[in-house]
Amino acid sequence: MNQKKPLAFISGASSGIGKATAFSLLHQGYDLFLMARRKERLIELKKELEELAISMTHTAHQKQSDSEMAPSQIHFFAGDVSSLTEIEKMIQGHQSVFKRLSVIINNAGLAKGSDPFHKNNLNAINQVIDTNIKGLLYLTHQLLPFMLDKKEGHIVNLGSVAGRWVYPGGTVYCASKFAVTAITEGLRQDLLGTGIRVTNIEPGMVESEFSMVRFDNEEKAKAVYEGMTPLTPEDIADCITWSLSRPKHVNIQEMIIYPTDQGAIRMVHRQGSHK
Ligand code: NAP
Repeated sequence: MNQKKPLAFISGASSGIGKATAFSLLHQGYDLFLMARRKERLIELKKELEELAISMTHTAHQKQSDSEMAPSQIHFFAGDVSSLTEIEKMIQGHQSVFKRLSVIINNAGLAKGSDPFHKNNLNAINQVIDTNIKGLLYLTHQLLPFMLDKKEGHIVNLGSVAGRWVYPGGTVYCASKFAVTAITEGLRQDLLGTGIRVTNIEPGMVESEFSMVRFDNEEKAKAVYEGMTPLTPEDIADCITWSLSRPKHVNIQEMIIYPTDQGAIRMVHRQGSHK
């Protein structure tokens, strides 16, 4: 049986873009390592992915009876990306799995509220900065040695259009995503010569749990996408998968993806309106 599938690590795999990326990369033949805080979600997702992996293997066997294929393996760790201790525990417990690490998808992230900065709550500010910046830095720092040894690999960071343009009520979230832009560009330069590629994926409006987490209010979250067609998590998973699948000498530095109904961060075409 083939035991040499490359391993893709995905943070924030329990919903939205991270979850869609897990399905997409499974179809590309990766083993997966999923991380998020909600353990029950990860248990359920592992089961779903394993069932799909087994059915994909059966179909492949029927098509090519001479090939020996093992279904993808799914690993997970329930933990907080902003806790270095938890990241260290995850890595210590899975040394042999991470030896096959080929891809890091730094996707875990969130925004909290859309009040002007002076009305922001300090706990929310800390949570956004700790998750979106420190979490990404901790994971990358601790996982990179597994790829440096192999002299190849790919880091994909989930930035945002908020990492390119600022909007009112987005000060802290934008600052965190501007940091992701800087970290991605810096990493690509620092890693020059190591064979490791680095990509920044920068979506506009994607309908996921993002707005529910941001507003903690179902009505407000629903209103964000009212009368317009947002991107889906699968649209972004497609872009990630495409970036990973380029030949090894091609590094997609960044990709900005807007829904057709969004002209700029606060410029949205809704049915019955021109803006
Ligand atoms: P989502 O559905 O809310 O998913 C966010 C994921 O991050 C969840 O799996 C969540 O899992 C995980 N997460 C949050 N805090 C975490 C922590 N401290 N430790 C570990 N995992 C954590 O939102 P999404 O739209 O898929 O967002 C994914 C990424 O895309 C984020 O970085 C976001 O900033 C970026 N993005 C989103 C949009 C958009 O419009 N939706 C646009 C541009 C960029 P747990 O709660 O289980 O931990």
